[in-house]
Amino acid sequence: MTARTGRHFLQIPGPTNVPDRVLHALAQPTIDHRGPDFADLTRDLLHRLKPVFGTDDPVVIYPSSGTGAWEAALVNTLSPGDRVLAFETGHFATLWRDMAERLGLTVEFVPGDWRRGVDPAAVAERLAADTSHGIAAVMVVHNETSTGVTSRIPEIRAAMDDSDHPALLLVDTISSLGSIDYRHDDWGVDVTVGCSQKGLMLPPGLGFNAISDKALAATQRSRLPRSYWDWANILEANESGFYPYTPATNLLYGLREALLLLEEEGLPNVFARHRRHSAATREAVRGWGLEVLCADKREYSDSLTAVVLSEEHDADKVRRIILERFDMSLGTGLGKLAGRVFRIGHLGSLNDLTLAGTLSGVQMGLQLAGVPVDPAGLQAALEVLRGE
Ligand SMILES: *Cc1c(COP(=O)(O)O)cnc(C)c1O
Repeated sequence: MTARTGRHFLQIPGPTNVPDRVLHALAQPTIDHRGPDFADLTRDLLHRLKPVFGTDDPVVIYPSSGTGAWEAALVNTLSPGDRVLAFETGHFATLWRDMAERLGLTVEFVPGDWRRGVDPAAVAERLAADTSHGIAAVMVVHNETSTGVTSRIPEIRAAMDDSDHPALLLVDTISSLGSIDYRHDDWGVDVTVGCSQKGLMLPPGLGFNAISDKALAATQRSRLPRSYWDWANILEANESGFYPYTPATNLLYGLREALLLLEEEGLPNVFARHRRHSAATREAVRGWGLEVLCADKREYSDSLTAVVLSEEHDADKVRRIILERFDMSLGTGLGKLAGRVFRIGHLGSLNDLTLAGTLSGVQMGLQLAGVPVDPAGLQAALEVLRGE
């Protein structure tokens, strides 16, 4: 094993780099989760979380991964046999579909080529065909982390409104929350699913649901079995600042610090930074002579970029060389993209020089792996970062 110096570059699209201030916050002594100080912490967090979701609705925090928060969104609103509409945007949309099926829902899964987001016209078409209003929910992954494609939620919402269809809108914002502009209230989303380890710059372990009035009303009718995930118990305990079971106290300290960091930078600046970093990354990829997986420029993800290699090159070999030589982790190709793409995460706690270092490592790794690249790629990215 070679000794490592400096910091590891964790440039996967989650978990992301945890800022020092958050690490220090996590290291505080654990307190009594039934005591008065804890109640103050809960109230403060539930208040500070709202702008990140763009909502005045309640937000529930689970000690869970994002997958748990997915399950919570489904079991609190739906009943066995309910029909739901979902879209094959990539690996995560497929996993959420699989979960819905295992829970006993009937999923209408609109096929996709893993290079595009949800087509609002397809939403309109499917809902218009559902004249009996049998579809209970529409499930959308806002930012598909396997492909680097961001679906246009406002247009999807408009398609639902135009069809006058009462289905709930459930949105996974796991890799967009805190990185890409998102508005639970303005976009009429019913359940927003999030988690801690991506744009929120925390370690894994917290899941979130933001819940509209309509989603809350749906819990009255919903008959899927639920216990741990039940919103009702949590919302009731939250009233007095507590939880029905032991919360992840130290992660909540970290969450408060991460929310302060976002407030200090200002969400519009956070989103602009991610937009600039994604633009610089795409300049590098194109300059190298390689292809970005996302096929529609309206849907480029600001939080990660998936890079396609030609058949004769193995993306995992490139990643391995970069890890060994430069101590940097990049995202692997998931599902049917295995070996074909690698993913550059540019979300969370990073700055221009972190991105410049990341793209330098990618360029050198590609060259070492024998992938022909034009070094003008890095220069083009630096020009975007330099600005004027
Ligand atoms: C990471 C991710 C998930 C899964 O979250 P876990 O914390 O691994 O359970 C789901 N959806 C998207 C879009 C993701 O990026």
